[in-house]
Amino acid sequence: MQTAYIALGSNLGNRLARLRQAVSGLQRVAVLVRCSPVYEGPAHTLMPNDVSPDFLNAVVEIQTDLGGTDLLHACQEIERQGARCRRAPYAPRTIDLDILTFGELTCNTDQLILPHPRLQERRFVLQPWFDLAPETYIPSPIDSTVSAVLASCRDKINLVRTPWLLMNERNETST
Ligand code: ADP
Ligand code: MG
Repeated sequence: MQTAYIALGSNLGNRLARLRQAVSGLQRVAVLVRCSPVYEGPAHTLMPNDVSPDFLNAVVEIQTDLGGTDLLHACQEIERQGARCRRAPYAPRTIDLDILTFGELTCNTDQLILPHPRLQERRFVLQPWFDLAPETYIPSPIDSTVSAVLASCRDKINLVRTPWLLMNERNETST
């Protein structure tokens, strides 16, 4: 079994429901260990005047027997079930799943790059990951821990921690 961390993001439709659907989808292919708090923050856009709805973001820890590529395909299938439209980079998306790390594997193929190549510049990934597992080692070429990478992150995004949970007892709805 490998431990993997997966970043979830949604900024269209019922965002919290989308994140929870993604968690359910992951539970069909892996053991869900823990979920981070859910954060809300503005979308990254390519142009300063672009308007895009705010995101909900979270990070989950799973354990799986799948290999890295099979896990990527499982994540893409969950995105398809969540009716993600692949329109353009940074376009609003109903649900996005990114594999942050897969054990201590480093890999760089056309389909899959591990650790995730943009995680260092994304506070919306690092902050929930820090809440979940701050001392997690991020392998080469980053070769550091989540807490150290967050401490040196220059992304100034304004993130708000929400009271919403991705699993168990509470059932609030949100858009
Ligand atoms: P982003 O999540 O960075 O906004 P996209 O989700 O649009 O970008 O990127 C999807 C593409 O990224 C897919 O074609 C997938 O093969 C590739 N990819 C490479 N490495 C990873 C990874 N670690 N996790 C998820 N997708 C990855
Ligand atoms: Mg992605």
